[in-house]
Amino acid sequence: AVADPEANARVRADDRAHVFHSWSAQALIDPHPVAGGAGASFWDYEGNTFLDFSSQLVNLNLGHQHPDLVAAIQAQAGRLATIQPSMANDVRGDLARRICEVAPEGMSKVFFTNGGADAVENAVRMARLVTGKRKVLAAYRSYHGNTSTAITLTGDPRRWANEPADGSVAHFFGPYAYRSPFHSASPEEETRRALEHLEQTIILEGASTIGAIILESVVGTNGVLVPPPGYLPGVRALCDRYGIVYIADEVMVGFGRIGEWFAFQAFDVVPDLITFAKGINSGYVPLGGVIISDEIAARFDTVAFPGGLTYSGHPLACAAGVATFEVFARDGILERVRDLGARVVEPRLRAMAAKHPSVGEVRGQGLFWAIELVKDAETREPLVPFNASGPDAAPMAAIAAACKKEGLWPFTHFNRVHVAPPLVISEEDLVRGLDIIDRALDVADRAAAG
Ligand code: PLP
Repeated sequence: AVADPEANARVRADDRAHVFHSWSAQALIDPHPVAGGAGASFWDYEGNTFLDFSSQLVNLNLGHQHPDLVAAIQAQAGRLATIQPSMANDVRGDLARRICEVAPEGMSKVFFTNGGADAVENAVRMARLVTGKRKVLAAYRSYHGNTSTAITLTGDPRRWANEPADGSVAHFFGPYAYRSPFHSASPEEETRRALEHLEQTIILEGASTIGAIILESVVGTNGVLVPPPGYLPGVRALCDRYGIVYIADEVMVGFGRIGEWFAFQAFDVVPDLITFAKGINSGYVPLGGVIISDEIAARFDTVAFPGGLTYSGHPLACAAGVATFEVFARDGILERVRDLGARVVEPRLRAMAAKHPSVGEVRGQGLFWAIELVKDAETREPLVPFNASGPDAAPMAAIAAACKKEGLWPFTHFNRVHVAPPLVISEEDLVRGLDIIDRALDVADRAAAG
């Protein structure tokens, strides 16, 4: 990274004057100017390089400026930069076929969108149309996107400011062993009680009103909550019993994050609809979509599907998606994620949990982990309150600052530090980044000690 104070000032000035940022009080933020990136790192105009342990917004699975993805986009741009969705296009079809090849049998159609939220919108639309039932159940600890239906389905506080919510959504508690809403003593008990709670929710909300249940296969931003054994198959069984469409939201965890094409594949379950985005092409060009069961797709064989987007299946985005599949196969990405997760990340995080009093729990799979921080290991009181901001969130800001000072860009959310680096990160960088987090947890320990 080379310092360029003049560029730094210009980028910052234009941004502050004219860019209206997501989820932010505009006068209270100071977006970091970024000059470039490569692999698992990016750099600014002040001479700092950061290891990207958040993969931007957990989308950059193949890292910054992957040469194969960049070349694929460049080649496609030189050939056919765009084409509207009602035409047939070679890369669009190629990508759809590759996606269906790694999806469960009996899912052979893809509807492309521009990102995750509109994938969720369209999956819900399909479920409502095929069941004739409008209500959708979603977990409190969830994020499903920022369009009108998706933000209503979202359980986390980002929904609150968007209320009054759509009345045709109801929320339920998913399993979360460390803070079990069911007071369970074991994963088996958590599964059984979470399923009983879900069934009661279905009965009391009215099975005849519920068209879909949407679930992140591993809850992402809201905690890296890995479902206990049997939970997702139990959800599947309830959906079958009550005539409900099961939508697996794979936007954050799909395409390798936990070492599977789709995270649900690690939990012995097959959904009816799969939403994806982010990792499909690392977000180099916006792309998302819905993978559709043959049964649901057939319902639109002779009846029009009432939905579409100008950029659905954009050739530049699809070219990057095709290149992603080639890189995954050539470089054994899924295998390396499983290996690095089990051999490098898990033991190191478990050692941090043993060493730092502020670490309540570490959990995750593949290259997707959470370190949950507490004031007190006995009471499990979170290091900062739920949805903390400003001074209440100061301890988390101090941990993030300690990471950045040592050249690591962390992902923090509420009382957690997540570990979600690009899947192409070298083992050496992975260890270096984990060591930085280890040292930053001293800050958490001091905050916990008060
Ligand atoms: N679903 C999940 C699980 C997500 O994590 C996200 C984004 O973080 C979305 C949906 C929304 O995706 P997008 O921001 O591309 O609209």
